[in-house]
Amino acid sequence: MNDIEKFRAHAHDLVNWMADYFKEIESYPVKSQVKPREIYSQLPADPPAEGEDFQNIMDDFNRIIMPGMTHWQHPSFHAYFNANNSFPSILGEMLTATLGSQCMIWDTSPAAAELEEKIMEWLKQMMVLPNEWHGVIQDTASTSTLVAILSARERFTNFQININGFSGQSDMIFYCSEEAHSSVEKAVKIAGFGSKNLHKIKVDSSFAMIPEKLEKQIQKDITLGLQPIGVIAAAGTTSTLAMDPLRPIGNICKKYELWYHIDAAYAGNTLVLPEKQSLFDGLELADSFVFNPHKWMFTNFDASAYFVRDKNALISTFEILPEYLKTRSVSETNNYRDWGIQLGRRFRALKLWFVIRSYGVNGIKDTFRKHIALTGQFKDFLDQDSRFEIMAPVDFNLVCFRYTPEKISDEKTIDKLNEQILESINKTGKAYVTHTRLNGKYTIRFIAGQTRIEKAHIDKFINLLKDTIEEIVE
Ligand SMILES: *Cc1c(COP(=O)(O)O)cnc(C)c1O
Repeated sequence: MNDIEKFRAHAHDLVNWMADYFKEIESYPVKSQVKPREIYSQLPADPPAEGEDFQNIMDDFNRIIMPGMTHWQHPSFHAYFNANNSFPSILGEMLTATLGSQCMIWDTSPAAAELEEKIMEWLKQMMVLPNEWHGVIQDTASTSTLVAILSARERFTNFQININGFSGQSDMIFYCSEEAHSSVEKAVKIAGFGSKNLHKIKVDSSFAMIPEKLEKQIQKDITLGLQPIGVIAAAGTTSTLAMDPLRPIGNICKKYELWYHIDAAYAGNTLVLPEKQSLFDGLELADSFVFNPHKWMFTNFDASAYFVRDKNALISTFEILPEYLKTRSVSETNNYRDWGIQLGRRFRALKLWFVIRSYGVNGIKDTFRKHIALTGQFKDFLDQDSRFEIMAPVDFNLVCFRYTPEKISDEKTIDKLNEQILESINKTGKAYVTHTRLNGKYTIRFIAGQTRIEKAHIDKFINLLKDTIEEIVE
């Protein structure tokens, strides 16, 4: 097990496996076709008493595990949002795994802390974020939003709930839209507010929060003796990538002194594109902001970029010995242990460094633009065929659509039909799409965002869609 030369040989074998995988990836079904328990039942009941050969393990990996994998790096992965990797990112991850450093504080690996600081400054520059923001890499957008909500809670109560708990506090209220990600509600629950204290604001016909309704609700809550403390806006909702109007919401937050968190988990990546920046107008009003390079920006899960204006509110919330209880000499370096929930941290900045340097900022821009153009081509196809209905504005690389032939008007039948189309497509293994419901209507979501997607994959999907419809209905 500790033989370095064997390790070298196995590593070389694995690198060959990895390159072959990418060469052959399109021969795998995008969505795994196994049945529930099919993998579990092939695994032995007992762990091996004695060590096994690498080759045995690899054989079982290929035989048992691989059929149960859904191939997120397949260019015909059009489901959910992408969780892209890329060759530079994988290479960076190999080094992170090899070094195996636990980067909780500066001393435990100075390079990890200082590279993270620099990468977050690079991202700030690339995306034209306010210079006074401070960045840190969290594991996920869910964690980042929880961190924002906890920071809002502590700043609002002058760091009292950390010490005394909630006793004696009146109900504190957060706001988001009806279309906000489920992680917002989860965070409000975990932070101890209770989901009833998350007030969900109605959206307009493009699925964006209506700021007038937000302000009305805040005023109503104040009259009732409740304490509004924060708003979470979505810059790109998960269902349709709808953009909440960031400036009007930001102005409301200013007026009522609320913490303003912007969840731009997916669409935030496009802030590198000057032509998309106007969609984020008002971004600079935020107290905190999150986007996930691990979704669209070619960086292996997990890497979530969290930015905060009031660094002291963040650190005083999470520091083990809180800022306000100690006199400390001004530190020149960051101990990221104090910038979030977990103590231990992987060296996540390394893969981002590899990605940004290998692609270059222009390479990242070009690839996003290509994805957006491919999405446009798919949308053009739908536009030209009256049997399809586009269900939400297309600002990025997601198209929400459904099949609505003239001869069918019953909503239930249309829902069923679209569900059937989606399931048939996924069963072929040639592509993978998922769905949402918009105003109660079953809607297919199509993303063109996998790292290595090309025009041929759009054409392939269009043909698959046409064939599937022909088979099912016509
Ligand atoms: C994907 C997504 C999330 C959750 O991201 P994780 O990093 O998996 O926690 C949160 N908000 C939005 C808008 C998302 O699209």
